[in-house]
Amino acid sequence: MTTHATFSAGIGHTPLVRLRQASEATGCEILAKAEFLSPGGSVKDRTALGLLDDAERRGLIRPGGSIVEGTAGNTGIGLALLGNSRGYRTVIVMPDTQSREKIDALRVTGAEVRLVPAVPFKDPKHYVHIARALAGELNATSPGSAWFANQFDNTANRDWHEAHTGPEIWEQTSGNVDGFVCAAGTGGTLAGVGRALKARNPALRVALADPAGSALARFINTGELVAEGSSISEGIGSSRITANFADAPVDRAWSIEDTESVPLLHALLRDEGYCVGGSSGVNVAGAIRLARELGPGHTIVTVLCDGGMRYQAKLFNPDFLRGKGIPVPDWLV
Ligand code: PMP
Repeated sequence: MTTHATFSAGIGHTPLVRLRQASEATGCEILAKAEFLSPGGSVKDRTALGLLDDAERRGLIRPGGSIVEGTAGNTGIGLALLGNSRGYRTVIVMPDTQSREKIDALRVTGAEVRLVPAVPFKDPKHYVHIARALAGELNATSPGSAWFANQFDNTANRDWHEAHTGPEIWEQTSGNVDGFVCAAGTGGTLAGVGRALKARNPALRVALADPAGSALARFINTGELVAEGSSISEGIGSSRITANFADAPVDRAWSIEDTESVPLLHALLRDEGYCVGGSSGVNVAGAIRLARELGPGHTIVTVLCDGGMRYQAKLFNPDFLRGKGIPVPDWLV
């Protein structure tokens, strides 16, 4: 009997592409995992699969039950598509500051989407607390009917990246990799990949590229948890240390302004064909910084987290860019 693959077979095993301009500018090989090619359009499909497989293994979700999650959007899209493929309902709580395109994409999946005002994590109305409470209410009415995925503090997220994303990078580079850089939202990618690569090569450098407005880079550098500034990137940065971020083996950390990262992502589209979102620009900026520190001849890996069309009305909108003081590329004028 032939066994065919199911939906989740499309998640992971993304190409590792060479970023030509970043490589030429630094004399290093700058490579990136093309996560925008994943079925749900982002690196968060991996997280969704890791969390859901773990919940199923541990009997935390029952057939026909509900997946409940608080998300900036991408994890929700991954969970909803996986949920559809496995017969679960999906309920997503999301801050109303996220891109229209992500909200629309989520609604198209059939997920129930609840938009809530963006407030600090310590406020009980923060989207993560609302999602947790909602799962609690569903379980109070019908015990065992809902599972709260909890991507920020459920370390099945980091574990999946440690078991899969990191080893993929090691194999695709045949172990010739000197550094790994990315931003952190939950921290799952950074911690998981960082741990997997350092276990194979303890000399490898792991770096955090943190958007302005996030507290993480300063926390790594000084131990103070304070956020300053702002960024148009979505899904990255944090004002607290999540369980997934806590064990990330970070050697270097930089705060990256939009004026540095957004022109890089415009050039990636115009000159190399990669249409990617704001977090990818931050990651490439971080990869260039690490390459400059290590010097020519090194190989640095980063992540192209999601596609640019998900942010078309912001990242490729001249009026929006001008309003943020970010250079407008000539072909958009
Ligand atoms: N980029 C984008 C576009 C994201 O949505 C996220 C996750 N919210 C990340 C990067 C960060 O990934 P992680 O949660 O693994 O830190």
